[in-house]
Amino acid sequence: MLLFFIFTSIIISCGEKNDSKDTALMPQDTAVVDLHGLLQVIGNSIVDKNSEPVSFAGNSFFWSNDNWGGERYYTPEVVSWLKEDWHTTIVRASMGVEDPGGYLDNKTVNKNRVKTIVDAAIEEGLYVIIDWHSHHAEDNTSEAVQFFQEMAALYGGHDNVIYELYNEPLDISWSNIIKPYAIAVISAIRAIDPDNLIVVGTPEWSQRVDLAAADPITGFPNIAYTLHFYTVHHQQWLRDRATAALNAGIAVFVTEWGSIGYSTVDPEADKWMTWCFDNKISHCNWAVNDKEEEWSILVPGASTTGGWSDDDLTDAGKLARNIIRNWPE
Ligand code: MG
Repeated sequence: MLLFFIFTSIIISCGEKNDSKDTALMPQDTAVVDLHGLLQVIGNSIVDKNSEPVSFAGNSFFWSNDNWGGERYYTPEVVSWLKEDWHTTIVRASMGVEDPGGYLDNKTVNKNRVKTIVDAAIEEGLYVIIDWHSHHAEDNTSEAVQFFQEMAALYGGHDNVIYELYNEPLDISWSNIIKPYAIAVISAIRAIDPDNLIVVGTPEWSQRVDLAAADPITGFPNIAYTLHFYTVHHQQWLRDRATAALNAGIAVFVTEWGSIGYSTVDPEADKWMTWCFDNKISHCNWAVNDKEEEWSILVPGASTTGGWSDDDLTDAGKLARNIIRNWPE
C-alpha cells in the first residue's frame, strides 16, 4: 500500500521539478551491482547474491540500426547521465538484427554500439541487458549463437550482464519454434558462461508468458521470460495473464514498457508499476530516443551526451523518470 502512495505522488508531481530522492530506499554511494551481484532465478523469483528478491528500474535504448536515429544515443555519457539524474539501475542495448542497418547488414558497428553501452554499464556498476532485438530470430539461429558466444566470452564474468535472446517473437509457436531456438542459443551461452541471467521472448510481441509457463525451458539454470506492455494497449487482462504465469512457476522480466505520459498522468502506468513492485519485477522503459513518436523520452534534438533539462523530456520521459528515480529495489 505504501507504494500506491509513492506512485500516486510520482504521477501527481510529474512534470514539476522533482529532485528529491529517498536515499534510504536507494543508496547511491554503492553501485547497484556491487550491492546485489549476480542475479539468479529461484522458482518464480529473480533474486540477488543474498537470495533476496530484487527488482530494478531503468531504460531501454532504441533500435541500434544505422541511421534510424536512436543509435546516436548509444554513448557512455548517456549511461552516466541516466545513472546520475534518473537513478537508473539497469539499461538495455537493443541491437537491431534483420532490418536495414541492423546487425546482419553491418555487424561491427552495431556490435560496437552494444559494447559501448555494456562497457559503460560495467564502469558505472549498473545491470545491462544485451538484447537481440528481433522479430524473426528463428530465421538466423546460427547468427544469434555466434553473437552470444562472443558476448559470453567477453562479458560472462561480469555480474552486470543479462542476455536477452529474442526481443519480440510474432504470433508463432512457443513450443515448436521459439523454445527450440532459445535452447540452441542457451546451450551455446552456457558452454561459456554457466550462470548469468538469460531472458527469453514469448509469442505475440512478448505478451504470451502463459504459453512459456505451460512449457518452460528445463535443464538450464537462471532462465526468465519476457513480458512487454504499453499502457495504451495492455491493461488488467495482461496483468492477470502475467500473474497466472508467475503462479505457474516461471520468472518474468519486463525488458520493455511504454507510456505516452497522458500529458503527465497515466493511471495505467501506475497500476502496472504497482503490479511490478508487488511481484518484484524488473523493468526497462522504451526508449532513449528523440524520434517524434509517443514512446520517446526526449524531444527532437536533445543532447546525445545527457545533461537533459526538464524541457528536453517528453511527457512520457517525465513520467518514466519519476518512476525510475523513486523505484525501491
Ligand atoms: Mg557468468
